[in-house]
Order: sequence, then C-alpha cells, then structure tokens
Amino acid sequence: MTKKQKKMLYRILIAAVLFLAAKFIPMPMLVSTALYFAAYVTIGYDILRKAWKGICNHQVFDENFLMAVATIGAIALAIYEKSGDYAEAVAVMLFYQIGELFQSYAVGKSRRNITALMDIRPDYANIERDGKLEQVDPDDVAVGTVITVQPGEKIPIDGCIVEGSSTLNTAALTGESLPRDVMTGDEVISGCINMTGVLKVKTTKAFGESTVSKILELMENSSSHKSRSEAFISRFARVYTPAVCYSALALAILPPVINLLMGNASAWGVWVYRALTFLVISCPCALVISIPLSFFAGLGGAGHEGILIKGSNYLEALSKTKIVVFDKTGTLTQGVFEVTGVHHSPMEDRKLLEYAALAECASSHPISRSLQKACGVELDRSRVTDIEERGGRGVVATVDGHSVAAGNGKLMDELGVKWQDCHSVGTIVHMAVDGEYAGHIVISDVVKSDARDAIAALKRAGVQKTVMLTGDIKKVADHVAQELGVDEVHAELLPGDKVAQVERLLGEKGKDDCLAFVGDGINDAPVLSRADIGIAMGAMGSDAAIEAADVVLMDDDPMKIAKGIQISRKCIRIVYENIVFSLGVKLTCLLLVAIGIANMWMGIFADVGVMVLAVLNAIRALRTSKN
Ligand code: ADP
Ligand code: MG
Repeated sequence: MTKKQKKMLYRILIAAVLFLAAKFIPMPMLVSTALYFAAYVTIGYDILRKAWKGICNHQVFDENFLMAVATIGAIALAIYEKSGDYAEAVAVMLFYQIGELFQSYAVGKSRRNITALMDIRPDYANIERDGKLEQVDPDDVAVGTVITVQPGEKIPIDGCIVEGSSTLNTAALTGESLPRDVMTGDEVISGCINMTGVLKVKTTKAFGESTVSKILELMENSSSHKSRSEAFISRFARVYTPAVCYSALALAILPPVINLLMGNASAWGVWVYRALTFLVISCPCALVISIPLSFFAGLGGAGHEGILIKGSNYLEALSKTKIVVFDKTGTLTQGVFEVTGVHHSPMEDRKLLEYAALAECASSHPISRSLQKACGVELDRSRVTDIEERGGRGVVATVDGHSVAAGNGKLMDELGVKWQDCHSVGTIVHMAVDGEYAGHIVISDVVKSDARDAIAALKRAGVQKTVMLTGDIKKVADHVAQELGVDEVHAELLPGDKVAQVERLLGEKGKDDCLAFVGDGINDAPVLSRADIGIAMGAMGSDAAIEAADVVLMDDDPMKIAKGIQISRKCIRIVYENIVFSLGVKLTCLLLVAIGIANMWMGIFADVGVMVLAVLNAIRALRTSKN
C-alpha cells in the first residue's frame, strides 16, 4: 500500500467508528448530529474540495461533483424534513471512498504486476579494471567495450561473447521458457538473464540502440495509442455525466410540478430523494477505470508471451484479423541458408564465394549473412567500396577494384548480363564480375519447424486467408507454399510489387476485417506500414522493419501470430463484457430508482459492486492460456 492509500484507510476507519457510534449508541440528537458531521467531513472533505475546484475550472460534471451534490442534497433533505437522519449521506460517502481505495489498490497492483512482467531494464554494466569489477551506468559504455556478466545478472547491452559459456534465460523477452545455451562467438541480446557461467561480452551496440532499450521505448509509447473503444469511453463519459445530471434535475422537478398542476399535493421530498439516488448510481467510474486497465492488461499479457503490441488500437485491430500476408525469407523460413552448390563459375569456388561475401558485407539480408558464414574467413571490409543494395534484387559493389554484382536474374537483366538458369531447387545467387557472368551459388533455406502449424493455427483462430509474397523465384516459392499449406502465393516480386499486392488484398476484404502483414526485411517496411497491422520479426528482423511494424514478435516464431490474435480477442471480449455489464446494471438501477424501488443505499452498493467486478474482470486480460 502506498502512503496515500494508508491515509485513506485511516480516514475510512475513523469515519466508520464515528458513523457507527452516531447510529447505534443512544445519545441526544445534537451529539449524534455532531458525530455525523465529523464523520462526513473526515471521509468526504477531499471530494468536496475536488468538486468545488471542478466548478471553479468550469469542468463541472465529474464523479466528485455527483457525489458532492448527492450527499449534500441528502443532508439538506434531512434538515428540511427535520428527521435528523444523516446516516445515508455519510454512508454513501463512506462506501464510495472504500470503493475508490479498493480500485486504486487493485489498479496500482495490477499495473505493477504488468510492469514487473516486462522488467527487463538493466541497472548497470560491469567493467573489469585492474582485476576488479566496477559497476557503471550502461549508458556510458562505449561500443566495443568488454563487459562482464555474472550468473544471475541481466545482459545490459547487445554484444558478442568473447569468453565463457553459459545458459541464458530469455523468458522476459520471448516468453520462451526453455533456456538457451551460448558459448564464445555467439551473439547475445540485452535483457536476457545469464544463469550459469561468467561471460565476457564485447558490446556491438550502444545501450540506447540495444534490444532492451528499443523494447522499453516501444512499451512506453504503446499506451499513448488509444483504441477506438477507449476513446469512445472518454467521449462517452463527457456526454454521459451531464446527461445524468440534467435527468436527475428533471426527475426532481417535473413529477412534483405535474402533480401540482393536476391539483394534487406534491411530495417534493420523495422526488428530490429519488433524483439524488439517481446521481449516486450514475457514476461512470467502472467504465472509466476498467476499460483502459483491460487494454493495459492485454498488452502486458501479450508482452509476456514475447508479442510486443505498440498500442491498444493495434490490439483491437489484431482481434479482427481475417487475412494474414507473409513474406517468405526470414518470416516463414529460417533465413539461414546453406550453400549447396557453385555452378558454371570460371573462377575457383572459394574465390567466388569470397567475392560474394565481400560484396554483401554491408547487407542485413539473410542471404548476405549466410554467404558470409559460408565463406568462413574473416573479411577485410576495406577491400570493398561503392556498395549499393537493390531491394528484392541483390547488391552491386566494387571489390579489389572489380565491379561485382550478386543477386537474382532480375539484377543480371538490369545490368545487361546474360545469365544461366539453374536446375537445382533453391535460391540462386547469380554473380557477375566486371560485367561478365561468373556463375551462380545455389543456397537453400529451410522452413521454420512450426511454420506449418502456425498457418493451421491461424485458420483455427478464424483467419480466412493466408497469402505468401516473396521476391524469390517461383519454383522455390511454390515448393514452400505447398509444404506450408498457404492459400495464395505470389513470387518474383519487387518491394513495390508487394505493396501493390497488399493494396489489392486490402481492397478485397470486408470493411470491418483487418489485414496483417508479417515481414522481416528493410524492403518490407513499406508494406508493414501499408497493412492494417504490420507484424515484424524482432530477433532476425531489421531495425527498419521493427520500426515500421505495429506488432513485434520477439522470438520470430510464426506461431505467436495466432496466439496474439487469441490474446487480443480475449482482451476485446473483456472490454465489451465490462461495457455491457456496467451499463446494464446502471440502467436497471436508474430505472428502479426512478420508479421508487431502490434507495440510496442500494445505489452505492450497485455502484461500488459493479466497479469492483469490472476491475477484477479487467485483470483477467493479463492471463494468457498456455497451449
Ligand atoms: P523475400 O520476399 O523472400 O523475403 P526479398 O524480397 O528480400 O525476399 O528478396 C527477393 C530476392 O532478391 C531474393 O530471393 C534474392 O534472390 C534477391 N536478393 C535480395 N537481396 C539480396 C542480397 N542481399 N543478396 C543476394 N540476393 C538478394
Ligand atoms: Mg524477407
């Protein structure tokens, strides 16, 4: 409990004691009145002050105003009727404050729980100086520094292991509970927890550019993107509260006036009382509190599964996904190619591979990484100049003074180089050196182990159509599409063609349906922003893709798309449950009050009860089922 909550608890206890004494201990009326007033002021002074401030700031209609008017009205009525029964006003205020206390406690606690799930911020980095470890601010660590990560510590900055081996817990980043073994030479990302051995890590990025910082940045910005339901609720409250106030006024004045006109004696007291009760019940706090909390819990639950959603609006869109469009390389396939052959090369295979790797040295495409790995030797980047990457085609560069091109048939056509087709199934990297065809390297990729299941899971989650778009040759594309069971496949596309395909699909879908595009590469960025929801692969994916996307899958697992859709559906369902439930109970109570069945006591119980249930229901969005 925070200090503020403790103070409120004491106020509630003191007021409750005064209230009970006034109500149940026999005493002269003057004394009991004094006790009631003491209780009322103890418990309600801040509400009265806030209501007054609201009136001064011309923001009259809020729940403080409702409570103040209702309770002061009840007191005035008791004075007017000389009943001396101020219990109702005090009790209403008391219960309202108990409800508020519970709410601030529950909301605060679940917010802390959600943030704790995402608690990946490292506090320090260890640097060894003169044989001693020194803790420094990770922000001050320069790229290329060797830091030491001891067992139990978080890796603060992305880097490469130069010494040691260990097991990493990546659960906070990916939701994956299986630990990952790492050893010298492996890349590690920040936010993982080192479990067993001591690691020396040479940092490859600055702290601000590291994975954790990026994730935290995403998380922090995500709550500012409000969903439509959320925006609806704030607009709703702005119209609703004044509407109830005027209705209450009408309820207090109209029936007695009509009675009077019809010649009957009018019972002012009864109708004023009903109007006041009406005000107590009408508080929209359950909605105002529970809707944003549901979304926050949904985002937190998804985050815990390694699905980062950049705002509640995307959570809402994700729940309506009907078409999922995939990029192939790196998204459905691992993007880890093996070189399976070198054909038609006039030069030595090794030499050709080396040229290819050198020309590709600046590219972040999975093909490039695989060629560099296949080459095996440390590359001397100073041999390469004038690198130009052509999205969806390949790269052109100058290596050792020779102009080298590596890419697909389209690239060769563009350069006017005659190229030879290949009969092996696989992705072909054609090479040209000094404008002459220099043979091709055949590389093959494997589909991700659960890509097939992921497509099936999407179907089960209600996705109507799955489409694969790729820049790769048709032969490979068809082969992969068949293996995975996607509905539609389009091959040999340039980045612009992918946008065109997505636009065509956007035109075909229903008005309320959403289209998601899943990709990983720099050249996917335009499509990612064009789709209703862009989903990027976080681990393999390029920074540009992660930046452009609305949802990031931390562990590149395509299964997580269906999972994300399920989480979003559950969250939206909870939001609607809360809207329908709160409004339903409120409207019923208002009706009961208007016809005189319910009194103010029942009103406050209904109000606090609805709020408690709505908050508890909202917290359910945090829990994601395991399957
Ligand atoms: P995908 O849509 O399957 O992810 P891309 O659009 O990234 O594929 O690339 C399409 C094709 O362009 C690749 O299959 C490859 O033939 C060629 N290509 C793209 N980038 C490179 C590169 N860096 N090196 C060699 N070839 C490349
Ligand atoms: Mg790709």
